[in-house]
Amino acid sequence: MTWGLTYDDGPSYYTSDLLNYLDQQNLKSTFFVVGSRVISFPNILQTQYMGQHQIAVHTWSHPQLTTLSNEEIIAELGWSKKVIKDVLGVTPNMMHFDIHGGLVTVQHVLQNWEYILSNATTRNSGFIVLEHDLFQQSVEVATGYILPDALAHKPPFTIQPVVQCLNKPIKDAYIETNDNKTNPPAQSGVAVTISSGAPGSAQATGKAAEHSNSGVQFRVNTGLLAASLTGAAGFAAGLALLL
Ligand SMILES: [Zn+2]
Repeated sequence: MTWGLTYDDGPSYYTSDLLNYLDQQNLKSTFFVVGSRVISFPNILQTQYMGQHQIAVHTWSHPQLTTLSNEEIIAELGWSKKVIKDVLGVTPNMMHFDIHGGLVTVQHVLQNWEYILSNATTRNSGFIVLEHDLFQQSVEVATGYILPDALAHKPPFTIQPVVQCLNKPIKDAYIETNDNKTNPPAQSGVAVTISSGAPGSAQATGKAAEHSNSGVQFRVNTGLLAASLTGAAGFAAGLALLL
């Protein structure tokens, strides 16, 4: 059983605590980072990247994208990609954003976790869990409860970044290092289905961009379960979208 491990909303003051724990356990994650916070914590982003974690985009200012115009959405993504390129030298080709805003308690997070675990064995394709590394409380729940629990699970989970859940090497997560060998460019106008299946998740179907920025199109397997584990003041979400 494969688990796509992801963290949203950082980098933050508490990301280093999470990174230390992941290092100790030899775990790699996907980090969906907020562009405006990358400016505040560029060294943390570099540590994540050098540690072979996957860096992906989670908007510039963390708005609800459904409230924005197309131009504003493009700016959210474009500026985030640029600041990540400025800090790392590479540009992510994967993004995810939130569709529901709202406060969620730690108790709710733990209930969601129990739900995920109780349903995990009924999946045959693995699942993606969205967690958060913006607030101290979220990181403490992750390192003190959820990750130890996941590591102790029998049979063991294969815990890895999203790009590796798609059977692609980490270098395919960036425009500059993706040689397109395992991931040829999508034809323009190809329908893309984005899907997830847990509480607080959403489905969307759309057309691939006429001219993909990256020339790369991941197809998200609809069998992947994207579930939301939201921190004390985080946002319930469930949309994995590819550029
Ligand atoms: Zn978020």
